[in-house]
Amino acid sequence: MTTRIGRERPLTVGIDVGGTNIRASVVDGAGEVLDTVQAPTPHSEHALEDGLERAVRELCGRHRIDAVGLAVAGFVDETRTSVRFAPHLPWQDSPVASRLSERLGLPVILEHDANAAMWAEYRFGAAAGTHNGVLVAIGTGIGAALLVGGELYRGSFGVAPELGHLQVVPNGRACPCGKRGCWERYCSGTALVETAIEILATDPTRSTILAREVSRDPGSLTGRRVAGAAQDRDPVALDALADFARWLGLGLAFVSDIFDPDLVVVAGGVSSSAPLFLDEAREHYAASITGARHRPLARIRTTQLGEGAGMIGAAELARTALGTGPPTVGADGADASAAGRESARSSTRETASGGRAGARR
Ligand SMILES: [Zn+2]
Repeated sequence: MTTRIGRERPLTVGIDVGGTNIRASVVDGAGEVLDTVQAPTPHSEHALEDGLERAVRELCGRHRIDAVGLAVAGFVDETRTSVRFAPHLPWQDSPVASRLSERLGLPVILEHDANAAMWAEYRFGAAAGTHNGVLVAIGTGIGAALLVGGELYRGSFGVAPELGHLQVVPNGRACPCGKRGCWERYCSGTALVETAIEILATDPTRSTILAREVSRDPGSLTGRRVAGAAQDRDPVALDALADFARWLGLGLAFVSDIFDPDLVVVAGGVSSSAPLFLDEAREHYAASITGARHRPLARIRTTQLGEGAGMIGAAELARTALGTGPPTVGADGADASAAGRESARSSTRETASGGRAGARR
């Protein structure tokens, strides 16, 4: 294990606080993950913070760490110090940043996990060099983030954007958020299953693979399994994927009509099946967006950093909050990632004075 004492740029820890696991990594200024620890997510507030402290202390034993960033699947307040609500975590209106900071003696920042992933893709991955971008992390639902003018857009109260819960079908499928017809009920891994089951219900004789599986155990079907069956040319699975592609294109067209992004990054578990739906989604996007023939269309790409993106982004935002982060895209639209890599080679002080801060707070 390399001890990094004496590096020019500070090392920070990024933590992905998921409902199942905590994953904490030491990340350097070039977005490289140097060391990782993982543990199951405890279910009480105190035990969760004990677990986070333990993970960071273990990493601090092997590296000199200057700050910590947490990527949280939930609502983070506009000061990025408290978790308002997280459906799979025990925190509610909890001042997590100050409590952890006190325990660790280090600066701690919080960020919504999709925002953190967007920031990582912007700095080091699929969104490098973009100016206005959208990220949709599609898994059981849709986590979304917006990059506007090279900065994360968090809204007035820290909760933007909740794109997955835009209502696209009045009185449509029920959503755990309490509404009906939310976009993610038609465009997620969960939606693939629901669509496949709906198709089978109308004509159970159509599919050999999926019909057999569903008749054995209707609860066993997963989005990954539907994608696998589509790979094997199962007609019901192919129809479910086609429906998913239609909703992805349509939803991204809605979003683009509002924000006019130059890039969309499709991330999350479903993105690994992108060859099955992405081209079709692009066609639906172009067909649904306003004035498609008279405007450039956003590129739609898949994630480059995969499931580590949230962690890497949280670590990078923690570094930025220290005042030693890289400049974001300048007025001339220069490639921020290249600028960041360049600044990683220069001294901390030079970087701090070399451009405007990436984080707004
Ligand atoms: Zn909803």
